Amino acid sequence: MEIVRSIREMQEFAKKWRANNLSIAFVPTMGALHDGHLELMREAKKTADICIVSVFVNPLQFGPNEDFARYPRPIETDIELCKMVGVDCMFLPEVHEIYSENFSTTVNVGVITEKFEGASRTSHFQGVTTIVTKLLLATNPDWMMMGQKDYQQVLVIQKMVSDLNFAVNVVMVPTKRDDDGLALSSRNKYLSDTERKTALQIRKALLIGKQLIEKGNKTSKSIEDAMQSVLQSVEGIRIDYCSVANAITLEKKTVLESKESVVLLIAAFVGSTRLIDNEVVDVP
Ligand code: AMP
Repeated sequence: MEIVRSIREMQEFAKKWRANNLSIAFVPTMGALHDGHLELMREAKKTADICIVSVFVNPLQFGPNEDFARYPRPIETDIELCKMVGVDCMFLPEVHEIYSENFSTTVNVGVITEKFEGASRTSHFQGVTTIVTKLLLATNPDWMMMGQKDYQQVLVIQKMVSDLNFAVNVVMVPTKRDDDGLALSSRNKYLSDTERKTALQIRKALLIGKQLIEKGNKTSKSIEDAMQSVLQSVEGIRIDYCSVANAITLEKKTVLESKESVVLLIAAFVGSTRLIDNEVVDVP
């Protein structure tokens, strides 16, 4: 497995592989890899000849009061996991390699970045779209694998790729969960045993919402109320948002339409840890 730390060297590797007619699939991550990340890598390996994984904790996408400094960085374990899955190349740039001292260019995608995660985390998506642009320019892939766990992020990146004509296919890979249903996340490491149990309410709430829709309930408010009561039925959860939206535009509606695809979106603090999860449902 190649380990690459400079953008120029990454571009040279990509150029060489492309010259040899090898297709490239890219998996951007912030490390602290778990089986959800590995699932993206397995999908990448099935799809293309070469699988590149980046690990970069991107300061630009963290707010001033968020967990950038304490975000876990077990890089040696991450390298071993990537080798185990058969990754061909890890791109591990340092912050100064990505952002020079007088860096001032950012990418802004517009309306879809303004709601949900964008409303709660100011300039988060600007950080995400800027780093993904830079990583795409460094790795030049045919495919990029992203997790459904960060549903809005995938939509934002798909919009950016379409608007800016990046020649990459963005693939959304289903969320990988623990046996009890909790979505795998690097941030689960922050949870105490009690908090981890509390966090299961998020999945429960999503499944209640899904059940209501599948039984024919089309009123957003009653679906959201039901999900909220599940979340609030235990101590220690603070809801950030808990909503039903159109799965493609993320627009909120009062009444769901037949045959519409909707997404149930939850962000909640369990203790001081902010968790997100979602479920896509086809309205009958
Ligand atoms: P992160 O390291 O958290 O920035 O995540 C890197 C990529 O892994 C993103 O595309 C995430 O959506 C994806 N990812 C994170 N957790 C999961 C999961 N449980 N299942 C599938 N993909 C995930």
